[in-house]
Amino acid sequence: MRHIVLLFFATIAFSMNLSAQAPEKFAEVWDKDHVSNIFPSDVRHVDLKKYLDGIKKLGIKAEQVGFSNANREIYQIEWGRGPLKVFMWSQMHGDEPTATSALIDMFTVLQKHRDKDWVKKINEAMTIRAVPMLNPDGAEMYQRRNLQGIDINRDALDLKTPEGRLLKQLRDDWNPAIGFNLHNQGALTTVGRTPKQAAISFLVVYGDEQKTRSFGNERNLRVASAMTLALQKFIPGNIARYSDEWTPTAFGDNFSAWGTPVILIETGALYGKDEMYLVKMNFVAFFTALQSLATGNESTQSTEPYLTLPENGSGTLVNFVFRRANILSIDRATVPASVSFSSGDIAAVTERRRAGFAAPVVIRGLGDIGARRGLEEYDASGFNVVHRFGRVASGELAEFYFYKKERGVNWTVADVEKQFPPDAVFSLGSWTKGYGVVPRR
Ligand SMILES: [Zn+2]
Repeated sequence: MRHIVLLFFATIAFSMNLSAQAPEKFAEVWDKDHVSNIFPSDVRHVDLKKYLDGIKKLGIKAEQVGFSNANREIYQIEWGRGPLKVFMWSQMHGDEPTATSALIDMFTVLQKHRDKDWVKKINEAMTIRAVPMLNPDGAEMYQRRNLQGIDINRDALDLKTPEGRLLKQLRDDWNPAIGFNLHNQGALTTVGRTPKQAAISFLVVYGDEQKTRSFGNERNLRVASAMTLALQKFIPGNIARYSDEWTPTAFGDNFSAWGTPVILIETGALYGKDEMYLVKMNFVAFFTALQSLATGNESTQSTEPYLTLPENGSGTLVNFVFRRANILSIDRATVPASVSFSSGDIAAVTERRRAGFAAPVVIRGLGDIGARRGLEEYDASGFNVVHRFGRVASGELAEFYFYKKERGVNWTVADVEKQFPPDAVFSLGSWTKGYGVVPRR
């Protein structure tokens, strides 16, 4: 009898291994089979429709379920035939696009690989419904709010927005067991007080202010831990926990209160990696969550990996720092022009734009910039720095000419950059002349 029992458990363990994929395997599958082919921030509603056409051709159900204010179609994709109801929605904030592309890739791979054991397991265990791009008007304008200027994620109780009403209706009609609320956070969000970017942040959302732990919250702590462990294979040190302050009007909090405990996934940015890499990280996280739910592996997962994540931090990181620059202010209102000097650090921050648009960089600190660190830091101690067309001041564009200090330059002439060509030019966040002249720190 004991042998039979052992054999039984050995068989289970073996079959679980057969149908369980390592995170690296998910990443490989994404590399090979992803269909999202433009940067998420450049995906418009019309591009989403093309993606959905592709999905429908594979035989996946993708239906229009509602309209935005501007009558743009909002879609829901459905896949799987198992009893566990999994609901996911992305881009309720129009300028938070990463997960929309990741969802398209997820459904494509689920369908293409539906004959494989690891996908069959998911198919038999759950039914997944997902709304990619809940806020298509906001996505079109690349802004957080909808066309009414309302933050849909503060509309869970008022329900003044058609998008918010639709989201609530889709939940109430189906009563899913778990929800994934998919967002983007600022590129300068950090892991705790370190200068490391939080490329991905998770939050297990409770259903009340007291953070009462339900069965679903406990399960979500384990699922979030599984996702944390998976992503640590790729971006260790760049994963954080989102602040779990109770927001009474937010959808995540209310979904949890209404009976659909939510996991929030916030995608940030990672220096040196493009948006597609973060689509892949989303994809790996999604599949890890689905697999852990489908195989039941989550039931034995420790909650520690999630609970010990540092919380999101802010205020310690900027995009660019130019250290110990000699900053020139030239006042051409006087004759002759008057020139004043100051020395110190310059901190500058890149504004969020679609990948296809040039992103302005704005000066956000001058002189003593405290403990702030730059994703890119330069030693400007050997240079005079002049603004290209305005003033070097907080709030102005970071558009600079760099002159080596040893050069003799007559700063009072009107066309100084013509008579004295600069050694390096920094414009729109890159070196348009003299790359490498100002040394990296
Ligand atoms: Zn958001």
